[in-house]
Amino acid sequence: MISSFGQRFGAHLMLAVVALVLILIGRVSLTEEAAAVDIGVGGETAVSPILSPATTLPPPVVSGSAAQPQPISALPVVSDNSLSPLPNPHTFQAQPPSHQFETYIVERGDTPNKIADQFGISAATLLGGNPWMSQESNQLQSGTEITILPSDGALHTVKPGETVESIAADYEVPAEAIIAFASNNLEFPYRLQPDTQLMVPGAEIGLFYWTAPKTVAGSGSNGGGSGPSTFTVQGTGSFIWPMTSRCITQYAWYGHPALDMAVPEGTPVVAADRGTVTYASWAAGTYFDYGYLVVVNHGNGFETLYAHLGRIDVFPGQVVEKGAVIAASGNSGRSSGPHLHLEVRLNDIRYDPLLYLSGPTQDCTYTAN
Ligand SMILES: [Zn+2]
Repeated sequence: MISSFGQRFGAHLMLAVVALVLILIGRVSLTEEAAAVDIGVGGETAVSPILSPATTLPPPVVSGSAAQPQPISALPVVSDNSLSPLPNPHTFQAQPPSHQFETYIVERGDTPNKIADQFGISAATLLGGNPWMSQESNQLQSGTEITILPSDGALHTVKPGETVESIAADYEVPAEAIIAFASNNLEFPYRLQPDTQLMVPGAEIGLFYWTAPKTVAGSGSNGGGSGPSTFTVQGTGSFIWPMTSRCITQYAWYGHPALDMAVPEGTPVVAADRGTVTYASWAAGTYFDYGYLVVVNHGNGFETLYAHLGRIDVFPGQVVEKGAVIAASGNSGRSSGPHLHLEVRLNDIRYDPLLYLSGPTQDCTYTAN
């Protein structure tokens, strides 16, 4: 028993001694680190900032002793950093872009083209900095703040999973141009933070384009293939206003190749020329969110498109005469108020409807403010 107790006691004593030695070593080690920090404050140190946990200690008070640092040779040199964490490339934290682009407050009488000219940028670039401007709404009111990009291009909001390369490919521009744009703040390996905005030099925002059917069941179509020549009913080639209102709330420009006319809901809408109805239905969910929509194909390459209707009075395939009532105006789809959205297309290209409509108009762009 005694012998066994002695062995156990001896073992405990050994452990206690080892523990004491370890504690003493730890104190010495702490002292060395504190000394290293003192030297570091003095401006001369071989200790890497990421090396020692002592760098998180509060800064030492500068005293008389600090003014007389010991010789470097008298201090232990910490050269083994094998236990320090190495920078992990997978934890690279991207810096968000630091864009501070010029902004402009819209004034009464401004138009998108006028603002673009004023700042020497293209209408496409004006849209590139303000993608909301192409939406079917009436937001270009005085007092609205818009972003003026410093050069041609587009502001892109980063989505999860996107890379510089994928964005460059989407806009068909070289990735180098995005990287080289200083305020994009891109550093190798060019990781992107979702929901930040990236300037894409040279890019243009593509405008949504929806094509109306080129054939319809019923009269007015010979059903033989596609294209404007499908329709045997020919328009006159000249157009009348589809409504009595000439109150223009949004003119045609690059971002909105159409004409918006404010009018109370329920106002009759007439066909601008003779033709065949090719679409008469709900058309929301598209980029423009047309709401209730009627499209008339005039058989001569022209189509007219009437959107945000409140009621539809025609059906696909129906032949309509110039001036015949086809619908009632409304506020359906993505619309900021009762109005008619009119598009005039020639061979599937949208033109300014005012090129085809004559007579005086009323500028209602700023009446809402
Ligand atoms: Zn419109």
